[in-house]
Amino acid sequence: MKVVVIGAGLAGLCAARDLQRAGVEVVVLEARDRVGGRLEGGEIGGHPIELGGTWVGEGHARMYELIEELGLQIFRTWNDAGQVLIQLGDKRVLLDGTQGAIPRLNPIALADLAQGMARFGSLARGVDPAEPWSHPKAHHLDSQTFETWVRRNLRTAAGRAYFRVATEAIFAADAADISLLHALFYATSNTDLETLMAVDGGAQQDRVVGGSVLVAQRLASGLEVRLSSPVASIAHDDTGVTVTTRDGDAFAADRVVVALPPTLAGRLTYDPVLPAWRDQLTQVLPAGTVAKTFAAYPTPFWREQGLNGQVACDTGPVKVTFDVSPPDGEIGVLLGFVEGGEARRWQRLSDSERRQGVIDSFVRYFGPAAGDPTAYVEKDWSAEEFSRGCYGAYFAPGVWTGYGDVLRPPIGRIHWAGAEYAVEWNGYMEGAVRSGSATAREILG
Ligand SMILES: Cc1cc2nc3c(=O)[nH]c(=O)nc-3n(C[C@H](O)[C@H](O)[C@H](O)COP(=O)(O)OP(=O)(O)OC[C@H]3O[C@@H](n4cnc5c(N)ncnc54)[C@H](O)[C@@H]3O)c2cc1C
Repeated sequence: MKVVVIGAGLAGLCAARDLQRAGVEVVVLEARDRVGGRLEGGEIGGHPIELGGTWVGEGHARMYELIEELGLQIFRTWNDAGQVLIQLGDKRVLLDGTQGAIPRLNPIALADLAQGMARFGSLARGVDPAEPWSHPKAHHLDSQTFETWVRRNLRTAAGRAYFRVATEAIFAADAADISLLHALFYATSNTDLETLMAVDGGAQQDRVVGGSVLVAQRLASGLEVRLSSPVASIAHDDTGVTVTTRDGDAFAADRVVVALPPTLAGRLTYDPVLPAWRDQLTQVLPAGTVAKTFAAYPTPFWREQGLNGQVACDTGPVKVTFDVSPPDGEIGVLLGFVEGGEARRWQRLSDSERRQGVIDSFVRYFGPAAGDPTAYVEKDWSAEEFSRGCYGAYFAPGVWTGYGDVLRPPIGRIHWAGAEYAVEWNGYMEGAVRSGSATAREILG
């Protein structure tokens, strides 16, 4: 059997590797001149940084296995010494970095937040991540935005603000953009909201020494990957498929794996055309909006102030930060996320206005020392032709119930893979890896 895999992100590479191990002849066609897709290595102050996907955490079992198998090492996210800064409106509170996801706000706001988290958690546990549309109240949950739920269920301004900041950090979209059912699905697919937000014992626990892109690069080393080969079209019938690149190179195979985010899958030409519902699905799954910004300093000076570099704030442009200094702390590196609606406004500013906005945010959180970085780097993922947004696709109201059942099944000889298709750890590297392997099993089966 011969299979063409489109896309050398983690999902495509894992699908290709599993198929090749089973004796299938595989070629991977990658549009960019590099592998990794949403994983990309960068550099600041002579040290590696991750411009895209970064952390592995609690429950990301396949990723930890891969990292070990590929001879890579991990190190802990800086979290132990120092406090997280939470700034909601004019309230500024600090919490111990090892304490978990709920900040010590005033008792009323804290009680509100706790009941909100509990209510959300109990709703989320009722959603089957394999079939969110099968929930008995799926239509009710999918006919409202997450913002509607936040307004109805959180009583205090601080409680609402915290949920909104968390939504932007987790989805790179605003609470008003996404369906309540999607928020519930995503939380349960990734265990729960607390796991998604936490560092120790959560999704931000560990990093790969040298950068997460090394996982993709090492996976690719045993495969036939054709770089700079953007696919334009797929012709398919009962006998096979022909995949053609923009340059006109044609690859015949028995099956094709489209390992692209759904919206980019919708930009390929299909002959015959996709069924109406499958094409419409690709039209209703927009990518989130996120930019990663980095500032380097001679030392991680915030640690001396008793801060661990983590911030959650409801005023932008940077609302969430992390300390992503190299493992030895030789220099200090702050990472700032610009996300959702905030990112849509910020990305239209001039280069100097964007940089100033980011540095002003860092100064607001960490004081004047943050005003004079030795280097600055930013990466806007929606500007990338072969991603057009990140971290991944989000589902607006009506999409899970209208199209959920046609997301994963193949169309004839066309199979789908990617972080967006994962039942478990949807949206994360772990989900991409699992989805790639699941698609390989689907083909082999
Ligand atoms: C800023 C950011 C931060 C993130 N943080 C984390 C994190 O900390 N932890 C975590 O687990 N996950 C994180 N993620 C998510 C994670 O990176 C992704 O879920 C995962 O990498 C997706 O892999 P994939 O293979 O599904 O898709 P992709 O990596 O998008 O792979 C798709 C591939 O297809 C290629 N392609 C596109 N169009 C074509 C075409 N026409 N022809 C051929 N090839 C094409 C692309 O170039 C790409 O290589 C983050 C993502 C971003 C962007």
